[in-house]
Amino acid sequence: MRITRREFVASTTAALVWHTFVSRSSFGQQPKSTRIILLGTKGGPRVGEAGRSNPSTLLLINGVPYLVDCGYGTSKQLLTAGIALNRLRYLFITHHHSDHNLELGPLTYNAWITGLPFRLDAYGPPGMTKMARDFFSYLEFDINTRMVDEGRQDPRKLITTHEITRPGLVLANDDVKVSSCLVRHPPIANAYAYRFDAKDRSVVISGDTAYSPELAQFAKGADILVHEVMYLPGVDALVKRLPNAKRLREHLMAAHTLPEDVGRVAAQAEVKTLVLSHFVPGDDASITDEQWAEGVRKNFKGRIIVGKDLMEI
Ligand SMILES: [Zn+2]
Ligand SMILES: [Zn+2]
Repeated sequence: MRITRREFVASTTAALVWHTFVSRSSFGQQPKSTRIILLGTKGGPRVGEAGRSNPSTLLLINGVPYLVDCGYGTSKQLLTAGIALNRLRYLFITHHHSDHNLELGPLTYNAWITGLPFRLDAYGPPGMTKMARDFFSYLEFDINTRMVDEGRQDPRKLITTHEITRPGLVLANDDVKVSSCLVRHPPIANAYAYRFDAKDRSVVISGDTAYSPELAQFAKGADILVHEVMYLPGVDALVKRLPNAKRLREHLMAAHTLPEDVGRVAAQAEVKTLVLSHFVPGDDASITDEQWAEGVRKNFKGRIIVGKDLMEI
């Protein structure tokens, strides 16, 4: 994606950062046919500061967008990454915490209102169909008005939901095979990681998980593992400020992965590159890249990338 000078000058700080990353990663090389862009890297539902948007990861495989999770802000982040919303084709939700699914409805709506052609296949744990239906019911007045008044097609017919009730093959086409694995994210039973085996690269997205040996097995030999991470001193600083501190800390410890364990998973899986994302806490700017990575490095000797919003890998 090229940016004209005028767009460049008018762009936001985020876009500047993105431009820098894209320029660096693509300089002097042929663009890969499978591209990964971190749209949002902040774990948790709160809309945060420190330059991280809520979780979402984009894969572009042969130019087709495959989006994993859609926390708040995903529509905006897609646009900043240069992806017209009506290009969205496949969406995969890892689990039904709102930092992963809040824009299921709004993203579908925004894609529809951008214009045709638009068609979305949305995959995720049971509940997808009801969520889409409830969203369309919430916006029924607007949708029905625009269909009559503006001659628009019925958006309810443009999205197909697919509920994943057991791990395994999710989708296969000429470009990619997508499969899922159950991960450990109590109290949610249906929490998945996804693996994309494309012709040039294999990519695994962990979703939210505590330390999970099954995930290491699932990610075996992948080129890239994008894994969530939680930094304990940061969590302790965070919970001190909150009234529900004890319960929240218990949940975080049971449901997320500390850096040392992220390193163990990456080492067991023998992946080439580990990308840290879904940072908990994700809005504490005092935590440095080195602090995120140092625990991981104790157990994983491969390449470690500390993810940033709009970074391309
Ligand atoms: Zn999350
Ligand atoms: Zn979660």
